[in-house]
Amino acid sequence: MIDVHSHLTFEDYDVDRDLVIMDAKKELKAVVISGVNPEDSTKALCLYEENKGFLYLMLGFHPIYANKYNDKDIERYLEFIKKNKDKIVGIGEIGLDYYWIKDSSEIKRSKDIFISFLELAKEIDMPVLLHTRKAIDDGLKIIENEDIRKAVFHCFSGGTKLAREIWEEGYYISLATSIGRNKNMKKAAKSVPLDSLLTETDSPFLSNINEERNVPQNVKIVYQEISKLRDIDIDEVVRQVSENNHTLFNI
Ligand SMILES: [Zn+2]
Repeated sequence: MIDVHSHLTFEDYDVDRDLVIMDAKKELKAVVISGVNPEDSTKALCLYEENKGFLYLMLGFHPIYANKYNDKDIERYLEFIKKNKDKIVGIGEIGLDYYWIKDSSEIKRSKDIFISFLELAKEIDMPVLLHTRKAIDDGLKIIENEDIRKAVFHCFSGGTKLAREIWEEGYYISLATSIGRNKNMKKAAKSVPLDSLLTETDSPFLSNINEERNVPQNVKIVYQEISKLRDIDIDEVVRQVSENNHTLFNI
């Protein structure tokens, strides 16, 4: 089993990070960690170096930081990612967030930054992992305009029609550990072809138990739900999702 989206660099793990990784290793084949800003990405790079072969790395820019960094910072950060392109399996997470960002000039800035990361992804030929909270439609439009071919909609909780538009374009849909309390995610687990699905925890967030710290090995909950909802053997889910990860990230 693989967790394609985790934030093991976050301070939630400062007291027991090594132990969390050791426990995750017992149950999982791989975990993909994602840097969300320049400082976090420096940490993620170190953590990846210490755990090669189990942790895989993505570097990106979460839209909520759009106003916290100036153009020069962003330029430097894009260069940093380019310099480390051989260590990463994708650019992420990047995207839009209309839940937290309401101000139109901030939305505009987050879009411009999003596009500059999409351009980098094309330049270095990397898949992207998208954060599109309350912004799936716009995110989809933008990546289509930018002619992005390899993309994952992380923590997808849109409707069935939107899910179809995404997988018909050849993009992937990643379902998270919050699936138990998310109707749309359950619908996607049933309706999206198995060869377009990925699994994640977004740990420390999105625990299946509210308010509890999430950990990568909880990703098994997503596999169990998919198997239950589709009425197929969990081994088949594990096999196909592994193949999807191999196709997209070479993991
Ligand atoms: Zn995340």
